[in-house]
Amino acid sequence: MHLSQYYLPTLKEKPANAQIISHQYSLRAGLVKQVVSGIYTWLPLGLKVIRNIENIIRDEMNKSGAVETLMPCIQPADLWRESGRYDDYGEEMLRINDRHKNDMLFGPTHEEVATDLIRDVVKSYKDLPLYLYQIQWKFRDEIRPRFGVMRGREFLMKDAYSFDLDYESAINSYDLMYKTYIKIFKRMGLTPIGVRADTGPIGGNLSHEFHILASTGESTLYYDNKFSELLESEDIESLKNIYAVADDMHDSNTCPISEGQLSTSKGIEIGHIFYFGDKYSKPMNAKVASQDGKSVDMHMGSYGIGVSRLVGAIIEAFHDDKGIIWPENIAPFKIGLINLQTRAAECVEIANKIYNALESDEILYDDAEESVGVKFARMDLIGLPWQIIVGKKSANEGIVEVKNRATGKVEEMQIEEAINRFSIG
Ligand code: ATP
Ligand code: MG
Repeated sequence: MHLSQYYLPTLKEKPANAQIISHQYSLRAGLVKQVVSGIYTWLPLGLKVIRNIENIIRDEMNKSGAVETLMPCIQPADLWRESGRYDDYGEEMLRINDRHKNDMLFGPTHEEVATDLIRDVVKSYKDLPLYLYQIQWKFRDEIRPRFGVMRGREFLMKDAYSFDLDYESAINSYDLMYKTYIKIFKRMGLTPIGVRADTGPIGGNLSHEFHILASTGESTLYYDNKFSELLESEDIESLKNIYAVADDMHDSNTCPISEGQLSTSKGIEIGHIFYFGDKYSKPMNAKVASQDGKSVDMHMGSYGIGVSRLVGAIIEAFHDDKGIIWPENIAPFKIGLINLQTRAAECVEIANKIYNALESDEILYDDAEESVGVKFARMDLIGLPWQIIVGKKSANEGIVEVKNRATGKVEEMQIEEAINRFSIG
């Protein structure tokens, strides 16, 4: 992609009202633009980041055996009346009337739609377990939207729903999703901590929130410092049961581990999993026939990941004072190619040669006629993992600079060597 043909509105100054670094950088690096409080347009660069996050999630969800669907944003209130949640949900729900005065809503979550989706079809234990997921926009009329995309009103979520015959298999499904979440977050370069959680308005019996450690997080985490060791082992049974809780769930009087073994940190919630048994299947009449011919309510769970929140969370985890430092799997482009001498025909020729030799959707080519300082600052701000810099030395000696954004290390190399380094295959 040529920068001159792209849409990348970056900001030099820190925007007013953006308190935390991910909010500042997501505006400054041209990832998002706020339309109104808690509602954003995703700009081309931000959209690429979202797509990369989605693709990691899709890949691991598919590997787990889950099947992708797409449920509607707008839902009928009647489904929520059936489950009994309509009146309880409160002001976070955006309630809408259609032209016939039917009560509708913009879905804050999809347990009811998912239960309705399968209840007339799935009739036998032979059809179970079944895992359905989607990546879909939610709306929650948060009282205090803040921190940019981290707490929006409209936000993108991956939500999955599991359907099982009995408790044992439902817990297997829960464990499978726990494991899948660890894989997903690790592939993003993150270190997730699963903390025991309240089940809140989703309801139910067993629940873990996944957090990443970050000083700007809204939650306070208390956890056994054996956690990181266990995370390596991916021993789900131990991970699930280790002491790890957030906020009010911690009580120093009843905490089962010693103070010396307890770590405390701020955390950002990036995912949340629930097992809630028959909370929806019973009132919504989602039953299957068991092996012995009995009709039983399905056991269900739901599993959310904050896709758009992850953009902010990843920036919180990976940045410096110059800007974002994207992990390679998440980066909107792998390489930023900078031509410092846009008026020198030889430099243009070299930059074009490099650009044409490398995959064009992996490379953002800064061909803009601007000062060296502006170009360097912008490229550092948007945080692509690698920079290839074409300048005077390229024309005179056939040498380019290759910079690693994370380490800041610059290597000089021959043009061909740089091309080979980044060629695919
Ligand atoms: P929180 O406690 O942060 O308000 P929640 O517990 O209400 O979140 P869930 O219902 O568990 O959220 O939703 C699943 C995931 O969706 C969360 O783990 C979070 O990553 C994300 N999420 C929830 N609310 C928002 C929001 N307002 N903006 C962006 N992402 C959100
Ligand atoms: Mg939650």
